[in-house]
Amino acid sequence: MHGPAGPAASSREGMLMRTSRNFRAAVSIGLVAGLALVSAAAPSSAQPARPLPAKQPVAEGSGGAVVSDTAESTQAGIDVLRRGGTAADAAVAVASTLGVTDPYVAGLGGGGYFVYYDAKTKKISTIDGRETTPAADSPTMFIDPATGKPYAFETAVESGRSVGVPGMLATWERALQRWGRFSLADNLRPAEEVADRGFVVNPAFAQQTQQNAAKLGHFSSSAQLFLPGGKVPQVGSVMRNPDLAATYRQIARQGTGAFYGGSIGRDVVGTAQNPPLAPNAPIQKITGPMQLSDLKAYQALDGTPTHINYRGYDVYSMAPSSSGGITVGESLNILGNYDLAHMDRVQALHHYLESSRLAFADRNRYIGDARYVNVPQQQLLSKSFAATRACQIDPAKAGKSPVAPGDPYAPGGGCTTVPAASSDSNEQHTNHFVVSDRWGNVVSYTNTIEQSAGSGITVPGRGFLLNNELTDFNFAPTQGSAPDPNLPAGGKRPRSSMSPTIVLQDGKPFLAVGSPGGATIITTVLQVLVNRLDLGMTLPQAIAAPRASQRNAATSDAEPAFIAQSTTAGLQALGQSFTDVGSIGVAAGLEFLPHGRILAAGEPSRRGGTAAAVVSRH
Ligand code: GLU
Repeated sequence: MHGPAGPAASSREGMLMRTSRNFRAAVSIGLVAGLALVSAAAPSSAQPARPLPAKQPVAEGSGGAVVSDTAESTQAGIDVLRRGGTAADAAVAVASTLGVTDPYVAGLGGGGYFVYYDAKTKKISTIDGRETTPAADSPTMFIDPATGKPYAFETAVESGRSVGVPGMLATWERALQRWGRFSLADNLRPAEEVADRGFVVNPAFAQQTQQNAAKLGHFSSSAQLFLPGGKVPQVGSVMRNPDLAATYRQIARQGTGAFYGGSIGRDVVGTAQNPPLAPNAPIQKITGPMQLSDLKAYQALDGTPTHINYRGYDVYSMAPSSSGGITVGESLNILGNYDLAHMDRVQALHHYLESSRLAFADRNRYIGDARYVNVPQQQLLSKSFAATRACQIDPAKAGKSPVAPGDPYAPGGGCTTVPAASSDSNEQHTNHFVVSDRWGNVVSYTNTIEQSAGSGITVPGRGFLLNNELTDFNFAPTQGSAPDPNLPAGGKRPRSSMSPTIVLQDGKPFLAVGSPGGATIITTVLQVLVNRLDLGMTLPQAIAAPRASQRNAATSDAEPAFIAQSTTAGLQALGQSFTDVGSIGVAAGLEFLPHGRILAAGEPSRRGGTAAAVVSRH
């Protein structure tokens, strides 16, 4: 939230490091320990063991495809597609089922960005379903009145103050109005069934519960739902969520008004205003000002995507309130000045890292909710601006971060910058999924409740967690004497990094891709695109390849497998340095092959792997 020199920079950076290190420990060695803890837990109220449903990271076929985090959500989408639903119908089935099986990263209490290719009009459109700040909030909402200083990040995370007005359900409704064939009630049914019947707890779910156990334990409603009997559910046990099934049924019966003004909404508001702290919870109770009028006023916003052309491919992604599309697009435009495919691999990776180093300086200086700040989107995405940034790259030497932003308003090219005052924010978790249907429509949709387990606050009796998305604002100005585009304000949407992307080739879908991972989303999407479009990898290889993320910081975050590559010594000789942060991102993608075939690709192992499936294997 603050710049490297800012007072709380270390807290947010530190939080990423801690969580990532936990994750890495769990993945490499500690999973066994984690599971040992899990299996040491007394039997929970969850039911007897069932086998885990099979997941596969890659599938190829025709008639439509889904790649999402869990086997149940992918199956829900495939079932809707087989019944004749569109990609939008299937996306609602996938997202609502993820609310059951992937509840720590997304659900009714959160928001997201929906990018849609309409095969009939051949146009790409977006829906901004980002959470919104309650009207009564102000730029000082994260300043502790007792001290006059910003709340510690950890304090703000578990508070009613960080809860934004959820945009998820409004996004589903809008997507179905524009592109659906089935009703919302029809598309919620698979999720209701999974919530009623239950799903088999897999190692990833148990691990996420374990990692969030303290946070969930701070709120009585969350402990009751996710820690039955006070324990982390065992792998192989069955986790049910009858409260969420009932919530979905009520929405199916009464429509979205039940949430945006009705009794579900009243419960959301009551919970944000008065979080149900568990007895003796060792945290400060910080309430939020959300009112029913905020829910009534919420709108999922129709929009147009960002667009750039990269080596002949048309790359479309999410415009503000997300910084994703502009930052991925600017990085690609910078890289368009170089022939990566014919560079040696060290130079290609050096240029990849330098492009996002520069683009993040611009993101932090210029991008916020465009309804509140003037975002120079056109300039930031112009080839001429990219040329002024590309000329900052020294092939022999890594940039010294924080590098200064460019000046998108400067007339004519040059190699000019404005004074540096950089910031970086790191958030974790979320999910991304992709869907296509028999007509050739495509969805690329990233959903989130911000951190893993969001605010940690479950709406009592409703079966879903509330987001803490408003912690994506900068709590205090980060840009020195320049205005900070991402300060809070009533009604404003916090800047996101989500980058749901669709790439066209000759006007037809070629790729759909995205990832979770906070600010690393941008670099993950960029790296997958560079891997696929420049470095000769197939889509599954491009997704599985080891990742590094440079976000205008002194060192790049990197996965151990990236650091272990033979290119690292050469990169270090150029002044690049890497911090092992465990795993980065959880990508999901589709590639549209000749003759109507689709290659669906997810993660073989990150966060337990993703589930890819096609409607027909033929
Ligand atoms: N809140 C983050 C964003 O919108 C996403 C959270 C994450 O992916 O970890 O950029």
